[in-house]
Amino acid sequence: MHALGTSPAHSQVILTILCALPTLESLFAAIRVSKAFHSAYKKHAKQVLHSVTSNFVGPALPLALQVVRHDDRLRGEDSMTEDSENEDEIALQSALKEARTLVENANMVAEWEDLFSFLRKNRRFKTSQLTPLESWRFRKAMYRIMIYSRLFPSDKSAYSVSTTPDNRKLSEELAARNKFLSDCFTNELGQLQVVAEFMAQIIRWVDSVDGLDMQVFGDFISIAQSAGPAVILECYKTLGFEPLTEEINRLCPDTTPEYFEDTRPRPLLSGYLTNSITAALQSRDPGYAPYNQTIHFGTGRECSHCAQQIFSLGLWGETTWDYLSLSSPILGTYLFPSAASFMKGELPRNVVELKHVEALLVKIPFKEIYDDIFNKGLKLPSYPDRNNDFWLCYQCLTKFITDHLHLWVIMKRKEAKEKVADDCWYGYNCRTQVKLHHAQKLNHLCEPKR
Ligand SMILES: [Zn+2]
Ligand SMILES: [Zn+2]
Repeated sequence: MHALGTSPAHSQVILTILCALPTLESLFAAIRVSKAFHSAYKKHAKQVLHSVTSNFVGPALPLALQVVRHDDRLRGEDSMTEDSENEDEIALQSALKEARTLVENANMVAEWEDLFSFLRKNRRFKTSQLTPLESWRFRKAMYRIMIYSRLFPSDKSAYSVSTTPDNRKLSEELAARNKFLSDCFTNELGQLQVVAEFMAQIIRWVDSVDGLDMQVFGDFISIAQSAGPAVILECYKTLGFEPLTEEINRLCPDTTPEYFEDTRPRPLLSGYLTNSITAALQSRDPGYAPYNQTIHFGTGRECSHCAQQIFSLGLWGETTWDYLSLSSPILGTYLFPSAASFMKGELPRNVVELKHVEALLVKIPFKEIYDDIFNKGLKLPSYPDRNNDFWLCYQCLTKFITDHLHLWVIMKRKEAKEKVADDCWYGYNCRTQVKLHHAQKLNHLCEPKR
């Protein structure tokens, strides 16, 4: 009887098991707990790493590898120049590094896919509901855009190339972009168009939320696209364009903020993705009509309350509440400390009640408030019953909160068995509540009775 892993047959089985693991975490866990697994891994590390990452990254692996290897080349493979005796160890370290970056990129692409699926396919699920084929197409397009943004960065030269007709640099650069895209099948170019437009939509949404209104600068969306999907996702997650300005500062020092504000024609930036993709499609079919967003996606979605047509990302709902909570460093300030602006009638002038409101807002996330309004019978009849398709524009969201916040606060106080004063007849409309004595004597977080 052999000890585990010592016979050739055992080793083969162990190797097969390691190669079938779905994630790097599971691989590292496996080799930590078993000596036999560890030595099989040591012996075939590159093969195992490659196999596990390819399980994780999926069929878009060839493109994913191109992205990673492009970045490696840029870094100049400095680890290779180290004069070490142990070449195997170096090879293992670089295989490990590559595997980790592949996984990191794949996670980022998966986050994009979840977002895409949610906004374009099925709003009931936050994780991707794309079919394997749709997912593969989407991911290929994402990786291609990552490669494209690396090959044609918005650096100093892209910034300074002008439109003079005989500009050799400009035509060379455009030809290089065309050549890159000409490797794609026509349906892949179409998918690139869809994904590029989706990225543009996310950028517009961040812009509409962060209040800086970057869109007035003509090339803004193109500049953001040129920074690549990872940077745009970071902007989306932090609801601001700091990651983008940092990236542009890195690529093109000395130009920001002019980079964004410059209105001179910058042919390598404007229409960064869309123009090149359209050109590639037109070179195959001269009759190809330039991309038209409405054909592909229809018009915006309706706000559930005012029925105003809003471009779909501008609506607030189930998946975006977290942005409104104090625990979120981004929009936590939406409700707090501006609580006063969400209080009905004369309540903003009532310091006693404002204290009660703020005490609750500090510790309770908005999602819970929202759930309570529906689940605990606070919802006013003028709002629709809860369903999965309840989406509000910013104005209606603000009105929704203003209509319910005082009802919710008093409910919470009663739930906590706090001593609550009798209701004032004039409720939130009472004009005397500005006087401390009156505010302390009666409750004003209630509807007026006269
Ligand atoms: Zn509305
Ligand atoms: Zn009163």
